[in-house]
Amino acid sequence: MQDPKLPKAATESTRQKNSALDGRVFDPLDLERVRRGFIAARTEPLIVDQQNRKVIDTASYDFLRDGRECPDTVNPHLWRHATLNAHHGLFNVAPNVWQVRGYDISNITFVRGEKGWVVIDPLTADSTARASLELISRHVEQRPVTAVIYTHSHADHFGGVLGVTSTEDVEAGRCQIIAPQGFLHEAIAENVIAGVAMSRRAAYQFGPLLAPGPRGHVDSGLGNSTPTAAPSLIAPTREISFTGEELLVDGVRIIFQLTPETEAPAEMNFFFPDHGWLCMAENCSHTMHNLVPIRGALVRNALNWSKYINESIDLFAEKTDVLFMSHNWPRWGRQDVRDFLTLQRDLYRWIHDQTMRQANHGMTALEIAELLVLPDEFLAHEHTRGFYGDLVHNVKAVYQRYLSWYDGNPANLNKFSPAKVGERYVDLAGGADRLLDHAEQAFQKGDYRWVVELVNHAVFAQPTNQRARILQADALEQLGYQSESATFRNAYLTAAQELRNGPPPRAEARVRARGLIKAMTIEQVFDTLAVRAISENLSGVALTVNWLFPDMAGTPDEKWVLGVSNRTFYYSQNRHDENASATVQISRKLFLEVIAQLTTFADELKSGGATIEGDAAALLKIFSNLDNFSTGFPIVEP
Ligand SMILES: [Zn+2]
Repeated sequence: MQDPKLPKAATESTRQKNSALDGRVFDPLDLERVRRGFIAARTEPLIVDQQNRKVIDTASYDFLRDGRECPDTVNPHLWRHATLNAHHGLFNVAPNVWQVRGYDISNITFVRGEKGWVVIDPLTADSTARASLELISRHVEQRPVTAVIYTHSHADHFGGVLGVTSTEDVEAGRCQIIAPQGFLHEAIAENVIAGVAMSRRAAYQFGPLLAPGPRGHVDSGLGNSTPTAAPSLIAPTREISFTGEELLVDGVRIIFQLTPETEAPAEMNFFFPDHGWLCMAENCSHTMHNLVPIRGALVRNALNWSKYINESIDLFAEKTDVLFMSHNWPRWGRQDVRDFLTLQRDLYRWIHDQTMRQANHGMTALEIAELLVLPDEFLAHEHTRGFYGDLVHNVKAVYQRYLSWYDGNPANLNKFSPAKVGERYVDLAGGADRLLDHAEQAFQKGDYRWVVELVNHAVFAQPTNQRARILQADALEQLGYQSESATFRNAYLTAAQELRNGPPPRAEARVRARGLIKAMTIEQVFDTLAVRAISENLSGVALTVNWLFPDMAGTPDEKWVLGVSNRTFYYSQNRHDENASATVQISRKLFLEVIAQLTTFADELKSGGATIEGDAAALLKIFSNLDNFSTGFPIVEP
């Protein structure tokens, strides 16, 4: 008897769909590329943090490595991609370039400088970055880290920096940190306003709550799995501010190309002119990327993205012999590199142009997503297929960027919420059982997309209806088994798991990464506080509080006014209000510790870390009316 809480087998319909795809290898050279230059792998599969908690365990992905045939519960194309991502170890990429891959979702790259290692992208977690440095120290050479380059502002490319260097080494000038212009602001900004919602939704995208295995997690598209650890951050000591800027980094000449508003808001590619190595950051990968990730984010600029790859071709392709990236494996050979870059450039341009072409014919996002099929030129290559991003989602991203989520049809202008519309659909069907009878017939025919649309109404109308929850889980699961995109698979299977077992326990959303908070600006802190304002409690409240941050003396951040007006917060920099109810004095450093919940205002007032002049109740009016968020909120049920 099948345990109702566990994943199920593939249906006949899924088996047929998946087996029809089996056996196709897009680019046989990819297997050579992932193996090329292999030196050694870690012998211990488990990487733990300083509290001995699991960060990553490569052994749990051994099922991908035995040359085993694709199980019928995985899309065969995704299976092959996952088996390529599952290669892990230290690899020699070029005479003085090494990569450690497969111990994190991203790659760490080591370039031999005159005195030490130039590290490109120190991974997500200190522990995985440290393990990578140990691997190269053991098998190549033990050297100090003289520079760290962050290619872009996403946490999987800087979060492990403390695993390869220290704040002391950076402050003493023994290690420089190089990043694209705007890096620090953007590294924080993406997580400020929507942080809690985004991290909950990210669990659907990356699938960390799924058990690895043929009926569970197999891949994340950019790598097998994401490490479970909070990122740290050391601020850059040198920002790259223009394309063509050249630096001598520990004796190695590097030419930078800024690519803002592409895969990340702050990102850069760079070229080693004396050696013919090109780093394309995350602007290229061995997969179609996301124009908006399903975890949610601001929509990315597909047009810029394609234009900057074109610029990389113009600037560097003629002299490039090795191309490496922040995820997946490198490419070798001048012609191969040019062909690869050309296809990547054209992919984002094609999605952009064809979406807008159809939009200008009056088609809507859903219609365009249903209509567009990736042309054979892209389907023929592993790296332009959707293992991470998915065409049907990217089309909607492009549409949204120009025309918003609204399709222009007023029938969709002010729709009922899912629970309200669910009740009405259940009613229309003649009750939940009638609706579910119909959905079960559709399930038998393998029409899973229709099943999930229909049964979603029943689950939102009657969230405790077990028959509805189980049928919905079963249909979502089959969609997951059929998905080529790892992120779609993770989302479908996580949804199925939560319908069978409920969402993860609610816990207070602690600040995700205290390491990141230290880099927040005062403005970003006030913005995070403002989205926590409990508007209902602020009727009639109108006040201002002056803030003095003595450790910011001499900068515009020394003085701030924070006010409450019409149930919202507002602030002004570089001035005080002479009619303010109170003036608070606290160092920026302590203020950030209050925000990170390492200490409290009350404690700091008691111990003298903070002082308040005037009406202390005014400050309390603000801080006692801040909402608290919790993780684990429901997604696939009301
Ligand atoms: Zn990344």
